Order: sequence, then C-alpha cells, then structure tokens
Amino acid sequence: MSTMEYDLLSQRECVTYKVDKYLYHLRLSDETLMDVSVRFRREMDKGLCRDTNSTAAVKMLPTFVRSTPDGTEKGSFLALDLGGSNFRVLLVKVSVNGKQKVEMENQIYAIPEDLMRGNGSELFDHIADCLANFLDNLGIKNKKLPLGFTFSFPCQQTELDESILVSWTKGFKASGVEGKDVVSLLRKAIKKRGDFDIDIVAVINDTVGTMMTCGYDDHHCEIGLIVGTGTNACYMEEMRNLELVEGDEGRMCVNMEWGAFGDDGALEDLRTDFDLEIDAGSLNPGKQLFEKMISGMYMGELVRLILVKMAKEKLLFQGQTTPDLLTTGHFITSYVFAIENDKDKEGLESAEQVLQSLGLNPSVEDCIATQRVCQIVSTRAAHLCAATLVAVLRQIRDNKAAERLRTTIGVDGSVYKNHPQFARRLHKMVRRLVPDCDVRFLRSQDGSGKGAAMVTAVAYRLATQHAERQRILDTLRLSHEQLLEVKKRMGDEMVRGLSKQHHKQASVRMLPSYVRSTPDGTEHGDFLALDLGGTNFRVLLVRVRSGKRRSVEMHNKIYGIPQETMQGTGEELFDHIVYCIADFLEYMGMKGASLPLGFTFSFPCHQTKLDQGILLKWTKGFRASGCEGEDVVMLLKDAIHRREEFDLDVVAVVNDTVGTMMTCGYEDPRCEVGLIVGTGTNACYMEEMQNVEMVEGDEGRMCVNMEWGAFGDHGELDDVCTEFDRIVDDCSNNPGKQRYEKMISGMYLGEIVRNVLLEFTAKGLLFRGKLSERLKTRGIFETKFLSQIESDRLALRQVRSILQHLGLTSSTCDDSILVKEVCSVVARRAAQLCGAGLAAVVDKIRLNRKLEHLRITVGVDGTLYKLHPHFSGIMKETVRALSPQCEVTFLQSEDGSGKGAALITAVACRIRH
Ligand code: ADP
Ligand code: MG
Repeated sequence: MSTMEYDLLSQRECVTYKVDKYLYHLRLSDETLMDVSVRFRREMDKGLCRDTNSTAAVKMLPTFVRSTPDGTEKGSFLALDLGGSNFRVLLVKVSVNGKQKVEMENQIYAIPEDLMRGNGSELFDHIADCLANFLDNLGIKNKKLPLGFTFSFPCQQTELDESILVSWTKGFKASGVEGKDVVSLLRKAIKKRGDFDIDIVAVINDTVGTMMTCGYDDHHCEIGLIVGTGTNACYMEEMRNLELVEGDEGRMCVNMEWGAFGDDGALEDLRTDFDLEIDAGSLNPGKQLFEKMISGMYMGELVRLILVKMAKEKLLFQGQTTPDLLTTGHFITSYVFAIENDKDKEGLESAEQVLQSLGLNPSVEDCIATQRVCQIVSTRAAHLCAATLVAVLRQIRDNKAAERLRTTIGVDGSVYKNHPQFARRLHKMVRRLVPDCDVRFLRSQDGSGKGAAMVTAVAYRLATQHAERQRILDTLRLSHEQLLEVKKRMGDEMVRGLSKQHHKQASVRMLPSYVRSTPDGTEHGDFLALDLGGTNFRVLLVRVRSGKRRSVEMHNKIYGIPQETMQGTGEELFDHIVYCIADFLEYMGMKGASLPLGFTFSFPCHQTKLDQGILLKWTKGFRASGCEGEDVVMLLKDAIHRREEFDLDVVAVVNDTVGTMMTCGYEDPRCEVGLIVGTGTNACYMEEMQNVEMVEGDEGRMCVNMEWGAFGDHGELDDVCTEFDRIVDDCSNNPGKQRYEKMISGMYLGEIVRNVLLEFTAKGLLFRGKLSERLKTRGIFETKFLSQIESDRLALRQVRSILQHLGLTSSTCDDSILVKEVCSVVARRAAQLCGAGLAAVVDKIRLNRKLEHLRITVGVDGTLYKLHPHFSGIMKETVRALSPQCEVTFLQSEDGSGKGAALITAVACRIRH
C-alpha cells in the first residue's frame, strides 16, 4: 500500500466516522428493523380487517386478481398502460408451443396537456383513438381481442374489470372521472366510435403487473415490489384473511399501498428532521411518509438537505453553500446512483463532479463525506424496504403454515434496478431478518405493460379452464328431473322385485327377511348375538328390559378369525365360531347357559324363514369350503352339537340393514326403514305382506331387504352414469354389478374422485398437468379424505397438506380449491342418488297405506353417512324435495348389527309366546 493510499484510507475512516456519528438516526439496527417489521405486520392486519380498514394507513386494497400465471397461458392480448412515464398501447402474444414465449409490440402515444386537465370524456375518446390507430396499424381491428388496462392511479376496485378512480395524481386532472369506473368510461368511448370492439377483462396497478410478469417465468412468484419514483408492493393473500371481499376460498392479490405506512404516526420515532423537512416541502404533506423515506422521488432531496445542514454547521465545504445546493430538487436521485458506483474511484469522481456542478469546490474529504451521506440514505431506504418485505414474507409463511417458505419477489423500479448497491443491500437484509425463508428476487421486464396482458391471459386461462372443468363436473351433477326419474325407476324395480312373475329379472332383489314386526318395547330377556361379516367377528350378550326399566345392555368380545380358518373347511370355521361362543359364555360367567341367539350374517343369503339363510356366495375374503348353498343356521347348529357343551336356540339370521331398522325401532316405533351407507349401501323397509308375493300370506307386514346396491345392473342408471362410473366399475372386482352402490358408497367415492382428478390432470386442468405416479394408484384416495377435505372448519392449506400426504406434492392453492370442488360434487351426487332411492321407498310405504301424508323414521348406519360433513344433509334435502308428502326423520343407529340381531330375536321370542 502506498503512503497516499494509506492516507486516503485513514482519512476515509475519519470522515466516515464523523458522518456516521452525525447521521446516527438514519442508521437503523437490526433490532429496530425487526421492530418496524412487526409494526408493519400490525398495519397489514389493520388494513385487512373489516372493522379497522377505514382508519388504517395501509389500505390493503383487493385487486380481484385471484391467480398467478402457471405457464400454460396462451393467446394474443392487448394492454393499455396509463399513468407511467408514457401512455402506451401494447399487443402481447403468449404462446406455449414447446417453450413459453412472450412477444410484444408497443406504441407510445402522446397525451396532450389540455386533455390531461380537460374534459374526462375527451381524454377517454383520445385513448380510444390511439387504440384504434394501433389496431389499424397491425391490421387487427376486427379481432375483438381481450384487453388489460394498467391504470396507475389510486383506485377502489370492485371487480377485476371495474375500478373507480379515487383521485387523479401525477399531473392528471381530467374532469368527471374521479368517482367513476374507468372501464365503463373506456367502453363508452370505444362504443361511441363504433369501428372496433374489444373485451376489457382487467384493470390493474403496476405492482400487480410486476408480480404477474415475473410470475410467468417463475411460478413461485407471489409478491410484487416497486421501488422507483414511488414505492409499493402487492402479494397473494388468503381470501379468508381478506375480510373486505366475500368468500373464503383461494387467494387474492392485495395491493398494499404501503407508501402510506406511517401516515397515522406509526413511524414517528424513526423520522428525522430531514424527513420532516422533506414532507413539509412536498405536494402532499402528511401523506406517504414511508414512501418519502425510501423512494426515488425523495432520495436525492434527502441527501441535499443533509449536505446543506452539514455545510451550515461547517462540517462540509468549509461552511460554504451555493444557490444551487440550496435549491429544492437540484440534487437529483440519479446523482446518488453515480456517487455510489461500485468502483470507488469513479464514485468519488462523480461526487466531485456533482458537487462542482452545484457550484461547490469540494475537498477530497467533502467528496468522501458526500458519498457516505448517499450510502446512509440509500441504505436506510433498502433496509426499511427489507423490514416491510419481511412482514409480508412472514404473513405468507404463516398462511401456508410452512416451516420454510420458498418464494419469489418480482421487482421493478429505477431505484432497485439502477442504484448500484440498493438491490444487494435489500436482499442481504431480508435474508438476515428471515433466515428461514428462501427468497428469490426477480427483476421484472416491463411489468406495467406486459403485466396487464398477463393478468388478462391468466383471467382468460382461468375462464377457459373453468368452463372446461364445469363441463366435466356437470356430467356428475343431477337435475331435479333426473332425480325424480331415478326415484321413479327405483319404485318400478321395487314392484318388479316383489312380484312373483318378475322377481327373477328385477335388479333389486327385494328379499323377504321374515321379520314381521318392529319392537314394541315389551320385549325382555337375555339374548346372544353373533356378528360375522363386518370388520370384526363378535359375540354379544344383550340384556333387554321392558317396562319402567326399559333398556338394552350389551357386553361383547371381539374374536379374531385366523386366515386358515376363513379359507379352511366349513366345519373348522363353525367349530371356531362355537368355540368363541363357549369362551364368551365362560368369560361372562354363564358357562353352559342356553339362550336364544340372533345371527347377523353379512353375506348374501336366500331366506325362506327367519331362522334359515342359504349362503349364496362367500365375499370379503371368506372361502371356507362346503358352505355355499347350505343353510348357515344348520351349519351353526351342527357345530354346537359337535361340541356338546351347551345348547342354543338359533332364532334369527339377520342382515345388517334389518338390524339397523330394529335397533332404531326400539327407540322410535315409527322406524320402519333401515339404511346403510358404509363400505356398501343397502336398505330395508316394512312392506305389506300382500305385496310380498314370494311369501305365502296376506296378513300384516314383513321387512324386505331390498339389496338396492344392485339397482342399475340392468341399465336403469345408464343415462346418469358418467365415464368415471364406467371406469370405476370396469376396475372393480365385480364389473357390471352393484352399479347404484358404486355411485354412492364408501368403497367407491374416493375412486370416482381420483378418476376425475386423473382426467383433469390429463387435460392440463389440475396439478399443472403433471400426472404423478401416486395419483395413478388405485385406492389411494380413500373416502375418508372426502370427509376431511370437505370439513367446513378446514382451511385450504390443510386440504393441501392432505394432498401432500397423498404424495400430490406439487399442488397449488388453486389445485386445493379444485380438489375440494370435485369431492363435493361426487359426494353430493352420492347423497342425492341415495335420497332418490329412499324417496321411492317412503313414497311406496305412503301409497301402500293410502295416506295423504306419512310420518316415518329411517334408521341409518354406516361410517360414510355418519362422518361425512354434508352427506346426510343433502340426502335429507333430496328426500324432502322428491317426496314432499312424507315427513322423514332420520335416526342414527348404534351398533345395528350387534344389538339389532338380539332385538330381532327378542321380537321373535315375544311373538312366539
Ligand atoms: P361397513 O360398511 O363395512 O360395515 P362402516 O359403516 O364403518 O363399515 O363403513 C366403512 C367405510 O366407510 C369405509 O370403507 C370407508 O369407505 C368409509 N369411511 C371411513 N371413514 C370415513 C369418513 N371419515 N368419512 C366418510 N367415509 C368414511
Ligand atoms: Mg356395517
């Protein structure tokens, strides 16, 4: 190091020390910046809340931009850019063939002074003229292109294409525009000409344009930042936090108008005498106080005020000032950029030149000091900007409940782009204040021009995709007329199933259950029940009391059935069952007791009396040999005899729908229908004996197990079936069978949803068109997810985490909304179809009894019915709409298959006595 250089260094340290000390208040510590960040976050909240918005300094304006680009946008779009340095018309072509590409043509038009301040309608006529000229030049006047309008003045937006000018700024003062919707004004002007037509889709502000332009290149971009003449930012906020706009789903871009931060005094402790002076001398005193500490419009002036004061205190220029130095606006902001040049030497030379041009005769120390002042002023600007950005980042991170946030900020503005150090300092401070966010800064290219076209392109994509999706979802939506038709056909099939002549051809089997009466409350005694064919094999002791102590008390024990027993011989299986009964009796201290027994046997059976059930076919993994075609009661009795330990009176074989009806019937004598909506679906009800042609006798009633899951197997549902139902059916274990069940029950709803999602993805309408291996896997979308996703209390990010849990990791917020919509459409259809079937049942009962009005109760079991948040409600609504003459009450059954079997046995014993 040469002596001279050494001298310069120490001289510099000395000067720097002096300036730093003098400008102590402009140098903000990390703690102070964090504090600013926290304060700003509070301001954001205040602006977002309905109650506090009117008094909030930071207005948090809704923009009605609900989605950022996903890269699949395409088409030609027009843009108007009014309110920047030039008025321009642009044509933006967005294409996706191979690689995303954006091409632009643009034309600058002058706006004469007299129009800026003249009559508003003349101004808009002029804009329409320019547009016409532009379209003429390109020969596209007849195309009716969509247009986006960047209108960079303070506006109150009420729709994407409706924006009311609050007040003109930047030299505009045209009459009759303030308080009006600028889109209507433009539309009017275009209509008046009558020689072309365009579709004005969106009005936006330049921050939004910046975010959207960068969003096209980087899909993580969800913040737009401008640090130019002014400063402002926007970001994607959750709708549920945006109380000023209806709806809770999805996100919307919020134009924060953060330049006004501090206008209510929130920054008073940080504002220096220089800031007060700047504000006092500005056109809008007391307003945009944060902006005045940061943006390009004020940066040079701040430096000048500092230099003047230091000179006056004889800290600079040997106490000398010049008329130029004393004149407002003579130290322009670009001087700051030049003086802070990366190359130190050039920076100092610039300082010397600038000071000389102001008539000063600076020493080396003066130049160094001036440079230092510039640094302090611009660093404060960058750091304040970082503090507010950090608040936004934290808000987004909290919204997403993410550990780490990975996000991109689109940035535009001369200070950010042209100041040699600003961007670096901003990035560094942001990263220091939120080390747990991966933040990328992306410079926007012509955000205000291209941005408006992008917003329009996205709006167009959304509209097209929305229409496409709705077209698909509409196939899953049923009209009232369609549901009435389903009800009618179900009614017809019931009649056919009951008749001797048509029974064999009916899809609904209408199996007599030989249960002739529902409980009347006088039943009493101890009963055993077996429950085979549900999730567990159980033995139960059910103690039924009548009279004052009327109650049902149950004890039960779950037993495993080893795989080899399920698939061994019938004797082995039934010996095992009897062993379990013996064990249970011993466990209950009733060894050797002989009790009446009800057997819930949930496999398809043909019954000819209450205590006989011929197994038609094993299902659900059972394969024990020698059982099919046999009476399971006999098989059980044989096994009991083989054991020779106790005797049991097997009174009834029961199906779970009947069990459910009986269980509820015990609580409510009006309960004459049983319904199951679980893994499968089925129903039973009390039919007049005279209609049950398969059983002798015309007296009284009998419960009929409808086996309604098979409705549709003869084509009755073909016109309401969708391609998704056909795929689910084709891929099932029993193609062509149980078609109604496959549109309703828990085993299939998730699969229907998954197939719709597959179709959406293949068509590029979901998950950005990326088909994941997970999504292709059968059964990954369990029906319980439908319940979870549709749960009203669930925020969208939880939907997203469910999707992530399913391995659908690339899902966006918009994807979550869609998946939820699909779930809701599929579940609604299921509930409506089920309701239509039920409407047929209750109306048949009403007509059987020749009643004008029927009051009846339906006992229901099944996890889908019980746990899905909307299924039961929609089903009830449907029944009410389709059978208005029936007043149907729904009662949930508790353990219909256990308790029900015992109650059937109890009723049978009562009748027997
Ligand atoms: P089953 O019908 O076999 O007797 P359930 O009535 O308990 O048994 O129904 C089980 C079915 O319910 C499962 O196969 C599943 O499809 C569905 N299911 C499980 N959890 C939920 C839930 N939270 N919401 C909706 N459906 C569910
Ligand atoms: Mg069940």
